[in-house]
Formats: sequence, structure tokens, C-alpha cells
Amino acid sequence: MNDKTLPTLEEISSCVNGYDPNALPVAQAREFIARLVPRVEGVEMLALRSALGRVLARDVISDINVPSHDNSAMDGYALRGTDLAAGGDTVLQVVGSGLAGDGYQGDVAPGQCVRIMTGATMPAGLDTVVPQEFVKVDGDRVVIPAGAVRPGENRRLAGEDLARGDVALAAGRVLRPADIGMLASLGRAEVPVWRRLRVAFFSTGNELRSIGEPLDPGCVYDSNRYTLWGMLQRLGVDVLDMGVVRDDPQALEAAFREAAANADVVITSGGVSVGEADYTKAIMARLGDVLFWRIAMRPGRPMAIGRIETGGRGAILFGLPGNPVAVMVTFYALVRDALLAMSGATPAPLPMLRAASVTPIRKKPGRTEYQRGIVTPAADGGWEVRITGSQGSGILRSMSQANGLVVLAHDQGNVAAGELVDVLPFDGLI
Ligand code: AMP
Ligand code: MG
Repeated sequence: MNDKTLPTLEEISSCVNGYDPNALPVAQAREFIARLVPRVEGVEMLALRSALGRVLARDVISDINVPSHDNSAMDGYALRGTDLAAGGDTVLQVVGSGLAGDGYQGDVAPGQCVRIMTGATMPAGLDTVVPQEFVKVDGDRVVIPAGAVRPGENRRLAGEDLARGDVALAAGRVLRPADIGMLASLGRAEVPVWRRLRVAFFSTGNELRSIGEPLDPGCVYDSNRYTLWGMLQRLGVDVLDMGVVRDDPQALEAAFREAAANADVVITSGGVSVGEADYTKAIMARLGDVLFWRIAMRPGRPMAIGRIETGGRGAILFGLPGNPVAVMVTFYALVRDALLAMSGATPAPLPMLRAASVTPIRKKPGRTEYQRGIVTPAADGGWEVRITGSQGSGILRSMSQANGLVVLAHDQGNVAAGELVDVLPFDGLI
């Protein structure tokens, strides 16, 4: 990444209205981060199927019309709209038939029509298709009752899906199944995508043990590396799992240097709490330009953000809190979109549901809260949401049980039972 042209953290903070590192609203934190993160450079050409989920690096301009010819939208009879009788039946003579890929080539005089199948090219001079179920066939004649079809109906126009010269897909698009289908309809075998973002991550804390190690007294297994790995996989970035790093200055420094040398982004968990008696913060601050925030959100208040540098290479640092729910919530609320932007994707807000809260929810104005909820269809045809049990930031089960986050906005107060709240569903159809 080209760090030379990037603004300093101080410059960025002066652009963010109401910036206060000790009580930073989520919206301001997101704005800061959006200004901080650079996009990857480097484009690769990928075969269409390999490009699913990747970010398009250049606009794709249609160089053909799709469809390439006017064609029938129905199985029926192609005719001239001007032949339809103003009132009463229209009777036409059938002079041939056209199939998809094998259209009728002959001439069709007024008063004549052509049997036609869906997708078959419209014979010259014909502009309307009457569906077969509306007509009566009588030898080589069809009888079309009044009102069965209007001129121009059931005909697909050349280029109505994509016209030559159209921007079929804009750069920044995360390619979904419909998109690779559309690219196929243009005959594209390959597309240019941004290279994958590389993200290194590790957990910090002397109490952490990795799977396979004995669980010594007072220790916990490291779960953050697994939730982080999962969330990063879903984003389609390259991951570098650097394990658990003990609270030891040399080990931490080596880990930060190695991470920054090998990745675009470094994500850590733990060790950023206020008054934390460890070395993580000191080393982050020494290796780069790093801010320590207290974000007005719950869970997930403390966070380190900035750039760390080693050997002329810089990486963006997200130092997330240690609590397992806080890691996930800060990732979704603050990191996810930043990684997408770094990957070259054009930011798009996630769709939210409005769901009636089954119970009252206590909420203090002045911070954004992300409660874990289970959304189900409501009797009235809308949605309702029930908070999963205890909302402690160490209770990962609350995330596992939930199918969405109830997002209670910064200024919002208590929620009454039945009141509508915003829910960010975990699952999207993509
Ligand atoms: P910290 O932010 O380092 O003060 O950690 C806050 C809490 O999260 C402590 O209870 C830690 O034991 C716990 N914690 C920190 N990192 C992890 C991790 N990787 N996996 C599970 N729990 C963690
Ligand atoms: Mg710790």
C-alpha cells in the first residue's frame, strides 16, 4: 500500500466532527476508520467462477447487446400488432414456425403469423406474440379473441437486459451469483478483481491457552482466534493466524513486526483495556501511530486503532478488546466495513430489520448498544425479537444463540415491550 500519501491520524481526527477519543460515538469511530484505511493495490484476472465473492477492480462495459436480437417471451404466435382487429376476433394464417436458436427466416405478409417458441428470434416485421393458451387453432389458422394481446406484448427487445456500451457492473462490486451469471451472458471468461486483502491476527494474554494445551488453573482457551478466523473467512480475505502471544515485550514486539511485515491489516484481541497492566499498548504505541479509544458502545468499549510500521511497510492496526462478545461486536460494527473498503468494495449499508421487542430492554442514552437477539416471524406478518439470556460481554453463547444483533442507537433510551427496534440479521441471501 502506498503509505506516503496517507493522512496522519491527527489530520483525520481534525476532520471528524465531535472527535473525542475518550467517549467516541460509533458513527464518529466509523467515519475516522473510513478515512484511515487505504484500498489494496494490485489487480488479478480470474476465471469467472473463481471470482465469486471477489471485488471487481474495473467497470465492466457491455460490448454486446443482451439479448442480441428481439425474441419471444412466450410460446405462442408471432404477429404484426397492426393486424389485430379493433374489436372481435382476429384470424391469421400460420406460415411457419421458429424455435429458440432456429428462428423463422421467411417473409411474413400482413394477415399471416408464425408459430414461435420462447427465446426464438422475432421474424422480420413482427412485433407481438400472443400466448398459445389464448388462441384457438383451426387447421393452418389461429383465431385470437379480442383483448388477448396488445401490440408489442410478449416481445423481448435486443439489449433490454444489457445494451452495448452500458456499465454492466461497476468497479467495487462484490461479485454475487447473479453478477457472474451476467458476466457469462456477456461472454466474459475472466474478470479483473482486486487482490485479496491479507489480515494477520493474534490473541494476547498470559491466561490464554490454545486448543491441545492443558488448561492450567486460572486459564481459558483462546476462542477469539476462532471467531475472528470465521468472520474473516466470510469476508473472503487471506488470513494469517499467529496464535497466542504472551504478555512479554519481546514476544509482542516480534509478533507485531512479523504481522505488519506480512499483512495489510493486523488484528489483535485483548490487552487494550484502560489500566491494563500489560505491554500490549506500550508496544503498539512504540511501533507506530496508534490511538487508544474509549468508544461509546456496549459491548466493546476500548479499542486501539492506527498504523504500525516495520521495515518501511505499514499495516493498519485494529486492537480489539479481549472479551469474546466484544471482539465480535466491534468487528461487525467497526472493522468489517473497513476491511471491505480496503478490499476495494464500494461501501453499502447492511439491510436492517425492524422487529418488535418482545420484552422491555434497558438502555442508557449516550452509547450504541448491540444486544444479541433471536428474530422470528410475528403473528402480524412483521418480525419480533427476543434478547438471548445474559448479555455479558464474556458470554459467547449469547452470540451463538442469536440470529441477529439488536442495534440500539446512540441517543435511544429504554425500549418498551412491543416497541420496534433495529435488528442486523446475521444471515443474508447472497
Ligand atoms: P482484556 O481485554 O485482555 O482485559 O481481556 C478481557 C477478558 O477477555 C478477560 O477475561 C480475558 O481472559 C478474556 N479474553 C481475552 N482474550 C481472549 C481470547 N482470545 N479468548 C477468550 N477470552 C479472552
Ligand atoms: Mg488481557
